[in-house]
Amino acid sequence: MDERFSALVVRGGKEDGFSRQMEKLDVAGLPDGDVLVEVLYSSLNYKDALAASGSPGVVKNYPHTPGIDAAGIVRISRVDKLAVGDEVIVTSYGLGVEVPGGYGRYIRVPAAWVVPLPAGLSLEESMVYGTAGFTAALSLQRLQEHGVEAEAGPVLVTGASGGVGSIAVALLAGAGYQVVAASGKEQAGALLRQLGADQVVGRGEVTDDSGRPLLGQKWAGVVDTVGGDILTTALKTTQYGGTVTCCGLAASPKLDTTVFPFILRGISLVGIDTVACPMPLRLRLWEQLAGTWKPAGLELLKSECTVEELAASPGPVERILAGGQTGRLVVRTSP
Ligand code: NDP
Repeated sequence: MDERFSALVVRGGKEDGFSRQMEKLDVAGLPDGDVLVEVLYSSLNYKDALAASGSPGVVKNYPHTPGIDAAGIVRISRVDKLAVGDEVIVTSYGLGVEVPGGYGRYIRVPAAWVVPLPAGLSLEESMVYGTAGFTAALSLQRLQEHGVEAEAGPVLVTGASGGVGSIAVALLAGAGYQVVAASGKEQAGALLRQLGADQVVGRGEVTDDSGRPLLGQKWAGVVDTVGGDILTTALKTTQYGGTVTCCGLAASPKLDTTVFPFILRGISLVGIDTVACPMPLRLRLWEQLAGTWKPAGLELLKSECTVEELAASPGPVERILAGGQTGRLVVRTSP
């Protein structure tokens, strides 16, 4: 095992701005932890782009190696349940935020963060999903838990061409739901239909500016990934008793609503948090992503780059921050 390894490092501060470049780091400099994992694949999520560009409120201490997702092979283990050579997935918790993440060749983490790669999934496929795919799976699980079954009516997915959105479209379609995909990218329509969307609509069709507290009832459920006016509109247009999941803030962290959707239509707004999702549910959802929920079109969502290419500015980081990402970007850490 090499004692030194390549990693993308973000340096800087509020005053002077931030920069990112490839650097050589020491394995000995990684934080203490039960398991040393050689990372073969990571991915680019919206949150990674925030961390890689020094956006406030994500990473407290720089210099920092982002990457909230990692898939690779256990090289050193202090615990019985994980053996050297095991293939594993590490996402969420503090990875790539509090401790160096998947944009370096090695990570060292607590065993409690590690998911053994489930049968039916390759390491690379696990990063096509990554945190975005896990978020989509958790959103589907929450809709089902709230009684939104496939027969209940159409389910709207917003930000549908993005990472969470595109996988949500594929998972919902695979589970037999009638899916309406809302996207700001005209050119994403063909892909979304291939993933199983019954209908693709523009953002304007799911953004209301009338100011009315309630609108016509359209959706049995909504997977919202963008927040802001689109989430407000989703609340106004969900059918009686329906459920809206909320995971993201690509448009805005603000939510401007009245109580009417809740008190007159009995709808539920359900928050989605993957970072602290309990391990038993996490394991169950990864099993489902590897098994019955695995979409035939998973490969359609994949594009790839090297970690060196992520250092480019402007590059993929700026593209995802501008809402320009379609599907999922898998990041290769091997040369
Ligand atoms: P992506 O950038 O891949 O997808 C977001 C999509 O939202 C874009 O592709 C675009 O889709 C749409 N969008 C972007 N900007 C705007 C805008 N200003 N107005 C309307 N729509 C917009 O990001 P991810 O899929 O990785 O993440 C989506 C969100 O979910 C992020 O906010 C992320 O932080 C959050 N998230 C939260 C998690 C949690 O645990 N709560 C876990 C993972 C992600 P289109 O062009 O098709 O409309």
